[in-house]
Amino acid sequence: MTAAAGASKLNVVTTTEDLAAISREIGGDRINVDSIAKGYQDPHFVEPKPSFLLKLQKANLLAVVGLQLEIGWLPPLQTQSRNARIQVGAPGYLDLSQFCQVLDIPTGQITRAMGDVHPLGNPHYWLDPENGRRLAKAIQNKLSEMQPADAAYFAQRYADFDQRLTAAVKGWEAKMAPYRGRKVITYHRSWPNFCERFGLVVVNYVEPKPGIPPTPSHTLELINTMKRDNIRLILVEPYFDLRAPNAIAQTAGGAVVVLMPSVGGVKEIADYFQLFDYDINLLVNALSKVK
Ligand SMILES: [Zn+2]
Repeated sequence: MTAAAGASKLNVVTTTEDLAAISREIGGDRINVDSIAKGYQDPHFVEPKPSFLLKLQKANLLAVVGLQLEIGWLPPLQTQSRNARIQVGAPGYLDLSQFCQVLDIPTGQITRAMGDVHPLGNPHYWLDPENGRRLAKAIQNKLSEMQPADAAYFAQRYADFDQRLTAAVKGWEAKMAPYRGRKVITYHRSWPNFCERFGLVVVNYVEPKPGIPPTPSHTLELINTMKRDNIRLILVEPYFDLRAPNAIAQTAGGAVVVLMPSVGGVKEIADYFQLFDYDINLLVNALSKVK
């Protein structure tokens, strides 16, 4: 491409590294992409930094997970950026949840007693690669709308991503197939989309309620459940304290697996494909060792 085209590159800012990774798949060298949260951080709680404001001030497009995942930290940053292009409702604000399959949509009244329930449904939807495909399509459409001169380029990049993803999903499903129906416990409710796709059944959580740290009575209940139902694995996100899950696993005769919920969680996970490669390898390894 010419320097002139380079000068008009869209600045895309995403809240998470997963969205940045998929944006890169589609945007290639025709866009600049930057993520606010790092993949090893808890995306519910991101400490604001002045550098985030600089990113947002220059953004043409802000892509978010939505479903209130970022509600604790993003809205004030958006306001302080004074960038009209990326405010909610503006053309440069893209809430990607609207294009994805969303699970755990609560029915009925939500009360404080229920903990930090995500009231619009589970925002951890990017952990189903089929939602990754939907994310890519939505990003392709948005980039094409904002930079029509590159629409054919984005379409070609999407087609390529789509094809590689189909092949990769087949491989991941095949690796997980022998363990279909295995029951697991997870720390937070981060994995419903992942587990549904790959055939694991989540029966309980280390958190007694969403966002609430483990309590002794709930821990005891989990130990009993694991023993009774022969559940051997506890899946934990990297930003949670391992003491409770380790203690539960030790007493119940199971194992803790620290799965990465996001691209960038560790340096081997540099793109969206490597995220599933990494997690599925860990899981298959752990599942093959327990009955
Ligand atoms: Zn959550």
